[in-house]
Amino acid sequence: MDFAALTPKLQSQLAKIGIGRAFDFVLHLPLRYEDETHLWPITDAPVGTQVLVEGEVQSCEVQYKPRKQLVARVADASGTLVVRLLNFYPSAAKQLAVGKRVRLFGEIRRGFWGDEMVHPKIRVVGKHNELNESLTPVYPTTAGLPQFQLVKYIGQALKSCNLADTLPASVIDPLNLPDFAGSVRLLHNPPPDVPQILLRERTHPAWRRLKFDELLAQQLSLRMARAARREQNAPVIRAKGELAAKLLAALPFGLTRAQQKVLAEINADLGEPHPMQRLLQGDVGAGKTVVAALAACAAIEAGWQVALMAPTEILAEQHFRKLADWLAPLDIQVAWLTGSLKSKDKKAALADALEGRAQLIVGTHALFQQEVAFERLGLVIVDEQHRFGVAQRLALRSKGGSPHQLMMSATPIPRTLAMSFYADLDVSVIDELPPGRTPIVTKLVSDARRDEIISRIAAKVQEGRQVYWVCPLIEESEALQLQTAVDTHAQLSEELEGIRVGLVHGRLKPAEKAAVMAAFQKNEIQVLVATTVIEVGVDVPNASLMVIEHAERMGLAQLHQLRGRVGRGQHASFCVLLYAAPLSELAQTRLKVIRDTTDGFEIARQDLQIRGPGELVGIRQSGAAMLRFADLEADTDLLEAARETAQHLLAHAPEIAIRHLDRWLPGREALLRV
Ligand code: ADP
Ligand code: MG
Repeated sequence: MDFAALTPKLQSQLAKIGIGRAFDFVLHLPLRYEDETHLWPITDAPVGTQVLVEGEVQSCEVQYKPRKQLVARVADASGTLVVRLLNFYPSAAKQLAVGKRVRLFGEIRRGFWGDEMVHPKIRVVGKHNELNESLTPVYPTTAGLPQFQLVKYIGQALKSCNLADTLPASVIDPLNLPDFAGSVRLLHNPPPDVPQILLRERTHPAWRRLKFDELLAQQLSLRMARAARREQNAPVIRAKGELAAKLLAALPFGLTRAQQKVLAEINADLGEPHPMQRLLQGDVGAGKTVVAALAACAAIEAGWQVALMAPTEILAEQHFRKLADWLAPLDIQVAWLTGSLKSKDKKAALADALEGRAQLIVGTHALFQQEVAFERLGLVIVDEQHRFGVAQRLALRSKGGSPHQLMMSATPIPRTLAMSFYADLDVSVIDELPPGRTPIVTKLVSDARRDEIISRIAAKVQEGRQVYWVCPLIEESEALQLQTAVDTHAQLSEELEGIRVGLVHGRLKPAEKAAVMAAFQKNEIQVLVATTVIEVGVDVPNASLMVIEHAERMGLAQLHQLRGRVGRGQHASFCVLLYAAPLSELAQTRLKVIRDTTDGFEIARQDLQIRGPGELVGIRQSGAAMLRFADLEADTDLLEAARETAQHLLAHAPEIAIRHLDRWLPGREALLRV
């Protein structure tokens, strides 16, 4: 099979389903199988699954009521079956002409009027048509690329590609896994005696072999990336700690034990001659920002520049204010760079970065842009790192040398994910909240009781507190979402007489957004109506009540993030999840998880179970590293085995590791350097 000889159009279609070379056909495994190896008598065929039956057409007519449809009766020795086609070409009527023998593949419904198949696959057969010998694979595909074409190329690839095992028997045998060639052949053309349930549930040894290989490739690439990073030079930062001590002395609080611990880990990394890649995890409100500020102090004291990036303008601006507040008194120059700056201010900020005057530069994606250059960049801090893609992080890395990297995230990573996607990062966890916080009480309330909630808001404002009102997520239409926010704002302004209600959403100009947030921060606004733009990082300790409308539409991780905007100060805090009744059972289970736990790890674990890892943390963005076959929850044993094997191979047989990676992850060099 010569991949390069395929037409450019076909190649681009294939690229959409991840096929970029001949061997990718081999690794393009079926989604599911259809069983056309067995003919069922019509009356005995099981329901609820697709079956193959064969019989003679007894009648065939076009009916016009209730709508135009083709209806035929097909009989075998056991009984008859109605075939119904709601959309059909004239050719279908020919296939179903009276007297023809046909094979029908589809699901049988046993109805009051008899047995029926709607839109089966129809094939006219002669006297001696053989049955398929193996299950028919159904492949993931894309528009304009029919199954038969994929099947053809896959067949060619299986013949022409080198399927020799990348792994020796000494690795595979102890794990009870079969050989590679046999496994892929079986999965593409399973013989009839393979129990279908093992294929369907992907627990057949052949599936397990493929999953293992995939996980092993992932482990190898992460470990190699880590090793390669240790070869790079980064500034050795050993500060005396004078700046940090000054900042600590000025803070109105002392660090928690957890904060001290992670700070020590970070400072130790900064003192190493190779770049730190540390993920700082801590639940919302755990106090990551001050840790970042103290790490920045160390780098600045040693004469290096620090860049801090946040995913939204609101958050970047807030960090800028807070850090400038903390650091300007220590004579540290803090600069501010976002896409929305006036060109004169932007020029000044760029010059400050380039000429080294700015010691800390806070900003958004704007920091990635080409025109941005630093004189001596020593440390990069990325807040809410899961919001950024791999490519963006790469771009910042290219801003000179190999600076240390500190990534912060409030989205906890379950153990299996930490073992796989994040295996190349060092992780520090802030596992305690600052003292004196009262836990957030969460209530599920039907939106029929909206009036009560309004009085509750008025009472809270009377007490001097502030309130967030989060508008529903409307995924289908941003315009509609915006409209809803505007309407809600108008309505609440009317209902809450004498209370100042503000509005913030994604379509406001950055300056407008900043003005609203500043007013809320200063308590000039008491109730802030917001779209989910406030999801990350906003910090207004006086806000102690959050109402989330249509909470049932949001993901668990998102709800947890949102709720983290309250419970940041001394005041007892509440989160009201308004839902539209009636709730589905699944929605109920999900909302109860949020109501009953404030532990981000537990929520993430449940989320992983409900939605699968693809949705979680930054994996969406690092799509290239996505697992296609293995399932982190179901295949934990294979993941552990892959981890050990990767370690072993890299230590004792690196040539095997390279061979294996070459098969599974060709051309991933760029990713390896992230
Ligand atoms: P997150 O980890 O979600 O980014 P922040 O860094 O925004 O949390 O901190 C939340 C709030 O807690 C801020 O107002 C911060 O000043 C405060 N804070 C941080 N550390 C402590 C501490 N050790 N004691 C008391 N308050 C703290
Ligand atoms: Mg934060």
